[in-house]
Amino acid sequence: MFQRTVDKIVEFEGLGLHTGTRSSVKILPAGAGEGITFVRTDIPGAPRIKAAHKNLVSTSFATTIGKDGVTVGTVEHILAALYGLGVDNAVIELDGQEIPIMDGSAMPIVDLIEAAGLRKLDATRKYLVIEKPIRVIDHDRFVYFMPASKNEQEDGLSVDYTIDFAQPYLENQSFSFSFTRKAFKKELASARTFGYLKDVEMLKKNGLAHGASLDNAVVIGDEDILNEEGLRFHDEFVRHKVLDLLGDLALLGVPVVGKLQAFRAGHGLNQKLVGKVLETPSSWKRLELVEDDFPKIFPAYRKDLLLG
Ligand SMILES: [Zn+2]
Repeated sequence: MFQRTVDKIVEFEGLGLHTGTRSSVKILPAGAGEGITFVRTDIPGAPRIKAAHKNLVSTSFATTIGKDGVTVGTVEHILAALYGLGVDNAVIELDGQEIPIMDGSAMPIVDLIEAAGLRKLDATRKYLVIEKPIRVIDHDRFVYFMPASKNEQEDGLSVDYTIDFAQPYLENQSFSFSFTRKAFKKELASARTFGYLKDVEMLKKNGLAHGASLDNAVVIGDEDILNEEGLRFHDEFVRHKVLDLLGDLALLGVPVVGKLQAFRAGHGLNQKLVGKVLETPSSWKRLELVEDDFPKIFPAYRKDLLLG
């Protein structure tokens, strides 16, 4: 299985969800083994920040990474788009401090990357394969990584996610997802971020959600969804949580093979899990595959769904 990058430069611009300021993004091709790197072109010297857990700065209402005091906010949806499409290496130039929220989902970025096309690089991809359970628990919330069973390895990564918050629309909603590029695009990429109207004032006072609107978030009022067009899926909320989770897992730096179970999790717990995975190398192995090995190791693997 070969590493990939974008074939042409992908460009977009828009408002940051939390800062409310406009910025432009360019996704450029990068070489094998380079991973995903953000570059703040608006700062002298254009500092570079690798998309890696060691650069995690904050998980409050979004995932923010940074280095030497320079940060990039709300990285989770662009990272989910790259992870979901199998882009291992890219440079993301940004002339502001937050990735634009676009329509609140990963779909606009997915469409642009697909239009630019992907380039196969002359190096194999390394997977992180979970071999022993890894658990992160915070009171009644948890995220577990379990080894994938033989049959589940066909998809590399599977996720069972449940949200259950004492709020209208967010009570007991579950979603199971077996990762393939096709399923990612169809079932996850267009699920939007969400919030409660009653929280907006509080968030704004705390310097958050300054760019939030009905154009980039599902807004839940006292009784109803305020967006005229309604929901994209009846369970759009839990689907968006799975999208966020994929973006958070991208800070592992390589695709992961395993079975993930999450209950009432969020960016904070997701990143604790990523940290714990990296701290316990005895619980996983690295797997480097040449393309011909794949059918032997993952017998039911649908090669057609990942390649191309
Ligand atoms: Zn999100």
